[in-house]
Amino acid sequence: MEGTPPLPEETDIVIIGGGVIGASIAYFLVTESDRDVTLIEKNAIGSGSTGDSSAIIRHHYGEKEIYTELAEWSHRFYQEFEDQVGEPIAYNDNPRVTFAEDESADAEYAEAGYDVLTDREIPVTRYDGEELDEAFPMFNLETFDFAVSDDTAAYSDGTDVAAGFVRAAQQRGGTVVTGTTVEGFETDSESITAVQTDDGVISCENVVLAAGPWTPALGEKLGLDIPVTPSREQVILLEPTEEYEKKYPDLVPTAGLPNGCYIRSEFSEGILIATHHSGDQCHPDHYDKQPDEEMLLELHETVSEHIPELSDAGIQGKYTGVYSNTPDHDFILDQCGPDGCYIACGFSGHGFKQAPAVGKMMADLITGQESGLADLEFFSLSRFEDSGEGHGGGIEY
Ligand SMILES: Cc1cc2nc3c(=O)[nH]c(=O)nc-3n(C[C@H](O)[C@H](O)[C@H](O)COP(=O)(O)OP(=O)(O)OC[C@H]3O[C@@H](n4cnc5c(N)ncnc54)[C@H](O)[C@@H]3O)c2cc1C
Repeated sequence: MEGTPPLPEETDIVIIGGGVIGASIAYFLVTESDRDVTLIEKNAIGSGSTGDSSAIIRHHYGEKEIYTELAEWSHRFYQEFEDQVGEPIAYNDNPRVTFAEDESADAEYAEAGYDVLTDREIPVTRYDGEELDEAFPMFNLETFDFAVSDDTAAYSDGTDVAAGFVRAAQQRGGTVVTGTTVEGFETDSESITAVQTDDGVISCENVVLAAGPWTPALGEKLGLDIPVTPSREQVILLEPTEEYEKKYPDLVPTAGLPNGCYIRSEFSEGILIATHHSGDQCHPDHYDKQPDEEMLLELHETVSEHIPELSDAGIQGKYTGVYSNTPDHDFILDQCGPDGCYIACGFSGHGFKQAPAVGKMMADLITGQESGLADLEFFSLSRFEDSGEGHGGGIEY
């Protein structure tokens, strides 16, 4: 990454946040428009949720075809990332499996996703009965009747992708300022006119709030009520025994486990297990970065129960990260507040896989293009105005 330049006095568009979302928006704006773009990041690129992301890329979203469609577009972009963006990223294929008991909520979700993927001709396989044990011999599958495998799922690396987008945006004329914190905004009667930082003021016509779990605090300064609740998620990296690695060279598929956590193989030949929508509300600046002993034990017990041959795996690392949850777990992508202000936040634990499509849609929204990727009404902030619940429920993506 190039060294950080001084804060310009003016620009057309300020993007706040150098996570995978702000970086993707910057890339698409710089690549597809002639607007002058400045991204401002208070720490380093990828230092927020993006750097802790498990970066799973999949298409199965139950019946929510809107996300399958965006995930398909984004996945193709990830597969061509080096050719399109000009930067290499880490990338491993790893199918994503949903195990289910007949007539359960998981079964409904698994089957709905199977139908959506089949209709869209995205490779998907259903395993029943004996086939199930043959396909996933490392799992204890006594309690499950079938599984749906999103066969072409994969995983990547959040920091790689954010840094790749940012470098490409810089090379194509964008400005990226790190180590500078946005503190406020200037407006005339109805429009954004400037952004205030701890390093001076930058005049602009547009501002994009892409600050992950910090977005509600910035929105408040513009009179916006953004219902995003951060949660602390815990991650453990297991080191399987040599015997396990020999027996299962691909280690594990990506899979949700019954207590709400998930598991996937890791680049380092380890296995990652993590909580998902833990409900452990936190402040993004003040949360315990070390997983709890209690949770370590619980995750270890879950693994031992469902993958017994991992019961004597060692622990090679552990950390925590923050999800930015909306009440319905759907994103917020909108133009709101004073003229010229846009927000992209509330990714609820599934923003990495969708970042290319989000960047493209936000860039099109800001420049007044029809992206045709999705109806942005679905992601509007105003959906929370009536009951506060938006589309209702939270979906276990
Ligand atoms: C443990 C974990 C696992 C995950 N696994 C997956 C997964 O497998 N697949 C998936 O699709 N998604 C996953 N996610 C979710 C995904 O990582 C996030 O949705 C995504 O990274 C959000 O990116 P972002 O750019 O919105 O936020 P962030 O990465 O948090 O970026 C926001 C940036 O804004 C900066 N900032 C904040 N305030 C200011 C300010 N005032 N001035 C300047 N800069 C500011 C911050 O420093 C930060 O770098 C996971 C998340 C976590 C935590």
